[in-house]
Amino acid sequence: MNGYQSMISVDEAREIILGAMQVMGLERVHILDSLDRVLGEHVHAPYSIPPWDNSAMDGYAAHHADIEGASPKNPAVLTVVADLPAGYTAPRAVSRGEAIRIMTGAPIPQGCDTVVKVEDTGAEGDRVKIFNVPVRGEHIRRAGEDVVQGSLVLARGSMLHPAAVGMLSSLKRSVVSVFQRPRVAVISTGDELIDIDGELAPGKIVGSNTYSLASLVKDAGAQPMVLGIARDNPESLRAIFRAALTADMIISSGGVSVGDYDLVKDILRELGAEMKFWKVNMRPGQPLAFGVIQGKPTFGLPGNPVSCMISFEQFVRPAIRKASGHVRLFRPLIEARLKERLVKKEGKKYFLRCAISVEDGGYAVTTTGGQGSGILLSMVKADGLIILPETQSEFAAGTMVRVQVINRDFEWSEKAAYE
Ligand code: AMP
Ligand code: MG
Repeated sequence: MNGYQSMISVDEAREIILGAMQVMGLERVHILDSLDRVLGEHVHAPYSIPPWDNSAMDGYAAHHADIEGASPKNPAVLTVVADLPAGYTAPRAVSRGEAIRIMTGAPIPQGCDTVVKVEDTGAEGDRVKIFNVPVRGEHIRRAGEDVVQGSLVLARGSMLHPAAVGMLSSLKRSVVSVFQRPRVAVISTGDELIDIDGELAPGKIVGSNTYSLASLVKDAGAQPMVLGIARDNPESLRAIFRAALTADMIISSGGVSVGDYDLVKDILRELGAEMKFWKVNMRPGQPLAFGVIQGKPTFGLPGNPVSCMISFEQFVRPAIRKASGHVRLFRPLIEARLKERLVKKEGKKYFLRCAISVEDGGYAVTTTGGQGSGILLSMVKADGLIILPETQSEFAAGTMVRVQVINRDFEWSEKAAYE
């Protein structure tokens, strides 16, 4: 078969593709530009957080020994020697019989071992009565209870979520090292395609894959480089793939099946691609060419709008995430109960578009409509893809199945009802 295997499994294809991916280099970004980037360095704490013991309450800092046994009927009485707001340090140590009025976040004055919350006290001039006594050490946030000096706070490969950005700022990291986002060339192929503002005419359709693939690329954290449409002739294909070589990765759609005009594989080989395979045992998305041209991983995805998206999900997204330094490459998988009976061809892996709901404390799935590889609307409605294994052909309603969650906005809570 032209020197490469004809049909391989989804898992084998993934392994070959991921094995061919190189991780991108690093760049430095300002912390406010770091959201959703992948951290490229291990971040250790240069100091502890909090740096010193501080009060968790508004109240009075005191010696526990002075207030032990106090009660509403028999309060302890202490002399208040200072007022300590957050942002300042106590003017002096607190001696026995004394207290300092302290606000949340202020450092615990020397000598004190306990904070009594204001609700358990009564102020009288420069004195305070303590009515209820907490256990010793109560209401004190200890130095280093959040982060200990020298510890690993965020590991290389972490996704920078808002909390991580906040943490970086408290470590005074205004600039951080992140992985560069791969630039991914997006190519559509076909004589029947017009671009979005072209003229529709008999036989012509909008090349929507350009737009769904560019969006998938962005959603995967990479930068799409939209190159438009190549025609079904060697000159046009050659020119567009050559232009694509300035990117870090290349994806095209169409022209990889077995028709007379399916020239993409030939062009890739001509440009020096070492073709790894060209068929995957799945539906939709069986035709798939993958090779490396001048060090650039190149994916020839199928042309059908749903096939190309599902192939992207299975192969290109994990590849982009590996290149982007992510440690989690794959979409989350859940187990869900089928709400309908499904039948398929044995020996092939299927990916079915489905809606996910929460029922009886578990997940349930229903298909979102026609599963033809050109039916984009059922993809639009899909929260996930039901993965049906090669080995079985019938799935009764009620069967538990594996589902890949692909809708990142999927709300596990109820939808608001808008008119
Ligand atoms: P192909 O693999 O080139 O034979 O294409 C398979 C089907 O997908 C055909 O019906 C094409 O018209 C359609 N198709 C190919 N490329 C695109 C595209 N960029 N956008 C929408 N449909 C496409
Ligand atoms: Mg075509």
